[in-house]
Amino acid sequence: MLRQSTLDQLSQIVGPGNLLTTREDLAAYAYDATPRMGRLPDAVVKPGTTEEVSRILQMANREGFKVVPRGAGTNLSGGTVPIQGGVVMQLTRLNRVLEVDTENLTALVEPGVITSDLHATVEAIGLFYPPDPGSMTVSTMGGNVAENAGGLRGLKYGVTKDYVIGMEVVLPTGEVITTGGKTVKNVTGYDLTKLMVGSEGTLGVITKILVRLIPKPEAKKTMLVFYRSLDDAAQTVSAIIANRVIPPTLEFLDNVTIRCVEQYIHAGLPLDMEAMLLIEVDGPRSVVEEDSSKVLQVCREHHAAEIQVAETAEDSLRLATGRRAALPALARIKPTMVLEDATVPRSQVAAMVRKIQGIAEKYDLLIGTFGHAGDGNLHPTILCDERDTELMERVDEAVDEMFRAALELGGTLSGEHGIGLAKAPYMPLELKDAGMKAMIAIKKALDPNNILNPGKMYIDQYAGWQPTGNGHGDAPPSSTHHSSPITHDSPVATEAR
Ligand SMILES: Cc1cc2nc3c(=O)[nH]c(=O)nc-3n(C[C@H](O)[C@H](O)[C@H](O)COP(=O)(O)OP(=O)(O)OC[C@H]3O[C@@H](n4cnc5c(N)ncnc54)[C@H](O)[C@@H]3O)c2cc1C
Repeated sequence: MLRQSTLDQLSQIVGPGNLLTTREDLAAYAYDATPRMGRLPDAVVKPGTTEEVSRILQMANREGFKVVPRGAGTNLSGGTVPIQGGVVMQLTRLNRVLEVDTENLTALVEPGVITSDLHATVEAIGLFYPPDPGSMTVSTMGGNVAENAGGLRGLKYGVTKDYVIGMEVVLPTGEVITTGGKTVKNVTGYDLTKLMVGSEGTLGVITKILVRLIPKPEAKKTMLVFYRSLDDAAQTVSAIIANRVIPPTLEFLDNVTIRCVEQYIHAGLPLDMEAMLLIEVDGPRSVVEEDSSKVLQVCREHHAAEIQVAETAEDSLRLATGRRAALPALARIKPTMVLEDATVPRSQVAAMVRKIQGIAEKYDLLIGTFGHAGDGNLHPTILCDERDTELMERVDEAVDEMFRAALELGGTLSGEHGIGLAKAPYMPLELKDAGMKAMIAIKKALDPNNILNPGKMYIDQYAGWQPTGNGHGDAPPSSTHHSSPITHDSPVATEAR
């Protein structure tokens, strides 16, 4: 628990209405979108300015309590779970689009801006901010940057890191730095902007974000293609790219996911198909026509069983709905959904899907797989029930095997959801000893007292840092997806979920 004097000072900094301390309020900040992980914070603060953020972090260093930055809490890796107690810092009051610069094609936003609000703002004047995570109608720009979020348009346009060109960041010690800027070129010193992107709230609190914009594509065409064979679908993905077409969207749904989506949205999807691809091409109108006919030809050559092509903008939305609905459709089937993020080189997508199917059979589990086939970023989603201990043991073993399979196929633990707590123990498998030590050196340099989002990315465990007490956060043992880290002092978190 935090001392009353600490709470009083926090209240003075942010105003009494922006400090939450009741058990009922804290319960809402004990967890995020990751199943089976939760821990009550000691307090929640909602700063309204960079200066307030800085004063809170200075205080945290003086008094030794932990601070966990939080946007919308939609991350899927336990990234905002206050595993060592302390204060959750909710950044959604900082929610203004500060500037859209139409000469330099940049936008300056605060971290609490909702991603799709930025899309709407810039698209209204013919500009485009491509990163579009599935959660974009609720996720924040701060959360997107801290997780380096991807999305459905990643294949052609890249991910969040490809658009962030500057930032204002409050370092864990409370100092404020600005990085990057509006210039197209900037090689002055280390690239601190890129260091902060994907740092998962462990290296600084991002208080302003400068992103580059591009012209909005003139036209786009959406196609939905069904296959009786998984291999044909996978080979289509590689063949489209080999034919020099880079679609912004090249998404995959397996049979389990097609069935769940159809049960959910009744769109008339064929239930006997092994795979569905959602393909979108965009650009100048003439290029879109040329690219879409190439794509359709490749699909036919690879034995597509059914093809639907959107003729209007409404059609386009309708065809994309199935893919956008994949996650909620799967989530309805069972009480718990364990969503993974293992990513392989594009050429290994079919092999990875087959491995996942083998794992589902071996552990007798229902797994729906969907994802960004063009980037090799798959989301095998295990439908289960966290109240069934025996079932969850099988789930844990299956997840373990999936991570190892992805690494064996030359892939990575996470394509876009981050490491957080959920994948922390696997970090050394991919980064090896030297990689982990380099990360620890950076963390120590910027956050000497390990104030900011401790216990994430396996840094503490690898460095041998003990969770600190100082009356703030009687931390539980390090958490993995194998065991619920919800502790005796946070049963509300379990009930709240
Ligand atoms: C239905 C659904 C679909 C999704 N689809 C995608 C997808 O397509 N692609 C994808 O990449 N992800 C996806 N996600 C995951 C998630 O939405 C993203 O990780 C998103 O970027 C998180 O944003 P947030 O505002 O919710 O951040 P939070 O969950 O609140 O925080 C995420 C991390 O960022 C840190 N953080 C937040 N704000 C700041 C800040 N201002 N400064 C420093 N650190 C900060 C937190 O400490 C935490 O570590 C999806 C999630 C759901 C539930």
